[in-house]
Amino acid sequence: MFALPVPHTWEPTPGVTLLGDAAHLMSPFFSGMGANLAMRDGADLAQALTEHATADDAVTAYEKILIPRSVEAAEGAAEGVDGAFAPDSAEQTLAHMTAH
Ligand SMILES: Cc1cc2nc3c(=O)[nH]c(=O)nc-3n(C[C@H](O)[C@H](O)[C@H](O)COP(=O)(O)OP(=O)(O)OC[C@H]3O[C@@H](n4cnc5c(N)ncnc54)[C@H](O)[C@@H]3O)c2cc1C
Repeated sequence: MFALPVPHTWEPTPGVTLLGDAAHLMSPFFSGMGANLAMRDGADLAQALTEHATADDAVTAYEKILIPRSVEAAEGAAEGVDGAFAPDSAEQTLAHMTAH
């Protein structure tokens, strides 16, 4: 089970950005957010490219949305995978399910 560090950030690089798992690979132990985030990333990047005069401006605007959004899910996924393999994982899972 692999995951990127939380937060996963990078120096802005002209002409390049990341989306989906390349930007925020996380365990599926939170609520299965990876594919949903990847689709949202693609939609936001496409929208930014239509709204900004240059591709670099669009990527800057997109990354301002992308990174904070993925951090919230990645933090939950990191906690979730720790809990899933903890000695009291059954109790933690029951508490999580009961809370929702
Ligand atoms: C067990 C498990 C359960 C999950 N459950 C959920 C869930 O319930 N809900 C949810 O939203 N998400 C879930 N996910 C996460 C979800 O599968 C991923 O977040 C999502 O597939 C990421 O999409 P992506 O397009 O970014 O990357 P990927 O789906 O990994 O697509 C990347 C593609 O690039 C290709 N590729 C790689 N290298 C190259 C290369 N050099 N040249 C050309 N092509 C290349 C790969 O073959 C692949 O097809 C789960 C993941 C796992 C492992």
